[in-house]
Amino acid sequence: MVCLCIFVLFSILFQMVLLEVELTIVVINFWYSFTRACVEQCEKTGCVGETCFQHCKFSSDGKPVGGPWYLQEPLYLRWKQWDCHSDCRYHCMLVREEEREKHGGKPVKYHGKWPFHRAYGFQEPVSVALSALNLAIQFHGWVSFFILIYYKLPLTPSKKTYYEYTGLWHIYGILSMNLWFWSAVFHSRDVELTEKLDCSSAVALLGFSLILAVLRAFSMRDEAARVMVSAPIIAFVTTHILYLNFFNLDYGLNMKVCVAMGVAQLLIWAVWASATRHPSRFKLWVAVIGGGLAMLLEIYDFPPYQGYVDAHALWHATTIPLTYLWWSFAKDDAEFRTSSLLKKAK
Ligand SMILES: [Zn+2]
Repeated sequence: MVCLCIFVLFSILFQMVLLEVELTIVVINFWYSFTRACVEQCEKTGCVGETCFQHCKFSSDGKPVGGPWYLQEPLYLRWKQWDCHSDCRYHCMLVREEEREKHGGKPVKYHGKWPFHRAYGFQEPVSVALSALNLAIQFHGWVSFFILIYYKLPLTPSKKTYYEYTGLWHIYGILSMNLWFWSAVFHSRDVELTEKLDCSSAVALLGFSLILAVLRAFSMRDEAARVMVSAPIIAFVTTHILYLNFFNLDYGLNMKVCVAMGVAQLLIWAVWASATRHPSRFKLWVAVIGGGLAMLLEIYDFPPYQGYVDAHALWHATTIPLTYLWWSFAKDDAEFRTSSLLKKAK
């Protein structure tokens, strides 16, 4: 009797799941055909509802359909590759999302991207602004490190710094600024080229900061040991970048590689922070815990609030205070190492 009841209950549940799946498929198909019809219609008329765009006066390769050459879009706007098709797709997506919301649906991704609202021609305005801010903070951190090390701290008789990791921090600063520049470009307008540049810069920075973590945490000052550690990491990162650019821009794989390199360096810093007597180890702790929490935002993606702020944009916001803290740690470390080296020399 009990068995029968359980069986009936399960079969009812199973039917409900099947019905739900079927309904979802029907709904998705409906919305899909809705968008396709909308884009087709738009490419013919140049309008979605009340909004019309001038791009549709041109064919998708930028040549005017029926007008003189001076009606073409200016060159400085053409790098964004907004053409009739992408304009239509964007506006049909907005209309569709509005309709879905009215029917109580949640946002869905289009070609792997959340439906963002454009502002002033920028695809993800919040991420662009935050990337620019990150670039500014990074530049400020690097310059203040530069001033400290060359103008405030004593130099060796041969005009070199006592601090053994100066060069590494310089490369780190340059790679970071490079990343934030391409990140701002990519979030302005994502096409394959800008995506590859953003992705490759991120991998390069993550790889290099892993090298920095190993060299600093294990106090490697010997040139040969440094090369031994760096060479395999550089080889791996180069191969991965070449693979992404010229073979397969694989999101899933890249995410795994980035998370693995990120977790590895957080672990190294955490272990070092708990073992060392470094006067600024509390900054390391905050950076490690903050970095770990920020990484969760990258992994647990959520749709953009009001069409503007998604998990990725929030992640760009958290890196601003972390960057400030990180350079402050670098400066403390330079001071600490220099003073202990000078004490030893006396
Ligand atoms: Zn980004």
